[in-house]
Amino acid sequence: MICMKKINYLIIGGGIAGTTAAETIRRHDPVGSMAIVSDEPYRLYSRIMLSKPNFFLEKIPFDQIWLKKESWYAENNIQVILGKSAVKLNPQAKIVTLNTGEELEYEKLLLAVGGCARRWDLPGAERRGIFYLRTLDDAKAIMTAVNPVRTDTSRLAEGGIESPPLISALTVDPLRHSFSEASRSKRRSNGVKTARHAVAIGGGFVSFEMCDMLRLAGIDVTLLLRESYFWEPVLDETSGRMIEAALEKGGVKIMRNTEVGKIIGQDRVEAVEINGGKKIACDMLIVGIGVFCPLAWLEVAGVKVGRGILANEYLEINFPYIWVAGDAAEFKDLILGEQIQLGNWVNAQMQGRIAGMNMSGSLDPLRPQSEASKLRTRKEPFRMVSFYTTIGFGITIAFVGDVRPMEGRTIILRGSADAGSYVRVIVKGGEIIGATLINRTQELGPISKLIEKDFKIAGREKELADTSFDLKKLIENLKS
Ligand SMILES: Cc1cc2nc3c(=O)[nH]c(=O)nc-3n(C[C@H](O)[C@H](O)[C@H](O)COP(=O)(O)OP(=O)(O)OC[C@H]3O[C@@H](n4cnc5c(N)ncnc54)[C@H](O)[C@@H]3O)c2cc1C
Repeated sequence: MICMKKINYLIIGGGIAGTTAAETIRRHDPVGSMAIVSDEPYRLYSRIMLSKPNFFLEKIPFDQIWLKKESWYAENNIQVILGKSAVKLNPQAKIVTLNTGEELEYEKLLLAVGGCARRWDLPGAERRGIFYLRTLDDAKAIMTAVNPVRTDTSRLAEGGIESPPLISALTVDPLRHSFSEASRSKRRSNGVKTARHAVAIGGGFVSFEMCDMLRLAGIDVTLLLRESYFWEPVLDETSGRMIEAALEKGGVKIMRNTEVGKIIGQDRVEAVEINGGKKIACDMLIVGIGVFCPLAWLEVAGVKVGRGILANEYLEINFPYIWVAGDAAEFKDLILGEQIQLGNWVNAQMQGRIAGMNMSGSLDPLRPQSEASKLRTRKEPFRMVSFYTTIGFGITIAFVGDVRPMEGRTIILRGSADAGSYVRVIVKGGEIIGATLINRTQELGPISKLIEKDFKIAGREKELADTSFDLKKLIENLKS
């Protein structure tokens, strides 16, 4: 068992939340010792790029995935411990134990552990050809299955630092979502087993983007939904059907109210059996059934958890000297006045910043710190209206604020499916708390502001429902 010297700032999780916190801490405290532990073997990369067709279809250089140079960590005096997991926490002794048995003693700890793709526990779920998408390794596995002709897997090996831009030989017409016959026959003649029919499971952002990517790669896609329409119950039926229409126009076959009972195949997936016994042949199964936070190791240490790690508005948890940031945080949202957990990039980044600022406050008067840090005695609350947008199949979808379907919320509709753009403004207690927008992302900014400013909708319902009314006018009024 190795016991390292006490680390001033220990960060578990090297994603956007953890790395932004590290960057922020370093700005305020140039000398404190710092370490980031990540169970992935990579430095910070863009998780959001993993499901974007340009990356998947190798239309952009692979290197664009990296968000920090390798040298950045050394230059900032941040130790990176890759490929190791934190498995035990002793908050009284202030020690984190890794899966290797190493013990890391900390002064201040950040839990930026994100989430994992929820795994299927169906019979046959261990077969080859079943894919999830959360990590770069997941993406590499799918890319290899989808692009075997073009993908030189050695180029995707660890780090991928020296990889040259790969100019794709592929001829894809993104508008028609199809391969040219020339590239199809090239794929066949190569003799490599190429995925030809994928079954995608689940409705949501990642599933939507995966369908887009697979269709652009020339793969037949059948999307199985347990629900009666896409993204039920987060969206209403009108929104869900608009998205379905776009998916179907792009060549995705959708099967609703469908549950998979069995995965069929020898060592790799060959088909799925759905309710009623019908079999759907496939050589690739993409499972997008949600994200969960594996928090058992923290729970046994006494950390209070719900769906995520419970925290106050300063991102402090129920033990002193420990903060949480990013997808794993179930924090007190000051705008909504509720405990919520979010799963989007900007939220994770901003929480990393706030946690980093709060961690770098002058706790230890004996340790030399920068003037800026010495001044930082005030705690900073986290306050942000978060959003998530995606584009695919000729449709744009955006969520802003809290879009959870819950009792006590009313909806103001703006636009319609016939008009081709449709917004649901979600109202609670007379104030806007969130919105879902289809083909109307230009209103994301004004709606965010209305949420942030606690705009009272009383008497303004008609304007909110009228697409000819410019929402920016409501903000101008707020200022005056
Ligand atoms: C395919 C995909 C596409 C996405 N697209 C978008 C998008 O377009 N827009 C958007 O806003 N959001 C998008 N998201 C969501 C966004 O990526 C996340 O909200 C964001 O990455 C969360 O950052 P994080 O730092 O909190 O967690 P993560 O990025 O999950 O990082 C946490 C890290 O901690 C590691 N870790 C966990 N437990 C331990 C442990 N015990 N010990 C050591 N290490 C540990 C994890 O392996 C991981 O590397 C997408 C997500 C995915 C998967």
